[in-house]
Amino acid sequence: MQIYTIPAEISDQCRKWQAEGKTIALVPTMGYYHKGHESLMRQARNCADKVVVSLFVNPTQFGPAEDLDSYPRDFERDCMIAEKNGVDAIFCPDSAAMYEENHAAWVEVPTLASGLCGASRPGHFRGVCTVVLKLFMITRADTAFFGQKDWQQQAIIKRMVRDLNIPLQVISLPIVRENDGLALSSRNVYLSENERAQAPYIYKGLELGRTLAAAGEKNAEKLRTAILTYWAENLPLGKPDYLSVIHPDSLEILKEVNGPALIACAVHLGKARLIDNILLK
Ligand code: AMP
Repeated sequence: MQIYTIPAEISDQCRKWQAEGKTIALVPTMGYYHKGHESLMRQARNCADKVVVSLFVNPTQFGPAEDLDSYPRDFERDCMIAEKNGVDAIFCPDSAAMYEENHAAWVEVPTLASGLCGASRPGHFRGVCTVVLKLFMITRADTAFFGQKDWQQQAIIKRMVRDLNIPLQVISLPIVRENDGLALSSRNVYLSENERAQAPYIYKGLELGRTLAAAGEKNAEKLRTAILTYWAENLPLGKPDYLSVIHPDSLEILKEVNGPALIACAVHLGKARLIDNILLK
């Protein structure tokens, strides 16, 4: 596995691979790998000749009061995990390599980015879209892999790709969870023992919502109330940021569940802000 820090150098390598007729899959990440990242790497490995993983804690997607400086990092371990999963190249630039002085071009998908995580993290998805488009341009990958844990993110990226005619296929993969249901996240390391013990109730609450919907409850507000009540009882340390019943593609808030629907949430638990979601069938 090769390690690149300079955009022009990974670009050159990708151009060489493409000149040899090789396909390239890209997995954008911020590192501190867990089995969710590994699932993306493995799937990328299955679908392309060459797998590039980017490892970049992108400053422009963090707000001023967020955890950019304390975001967990373990480069050596990440390299071992990437190599084990058959990754061909890691691209780990520093901020100055990605953002030149006077960087002034930004990409936004405002209609999808204003609600949910975008409401409490203004500018977050502008930073995500911009860095992801830069990674797409640097690698000119054929496919890119994203996790459904960040449902809003993958919906926004898919829309950006469609609307800007980017010649790349976006593939999103299911959430990988701990045995107790907690969605794997690099930020789970922030949890204290007590918080970790309560964290699985985030997903158990979402499952309750899905069960009620499957039993015929169509009223979104009733689903929300049932989940919030369940969380109040079982997740007293958690402070819900949002809990929304939405259309999976348009991300519009639904009043009634009559077709495709997703329940998405963010919950503050101690220092961590955890997100999760569940599709209603
Ligand atoms: P991150 O390093 O947290 O920015 O995540 C990099 C990619 O991994 C994103 O596309 C995430 O959606 C995805 N990801 C993170 N956690 C999970 C998980 N538990 N299951 C599946 N994908 C995940």
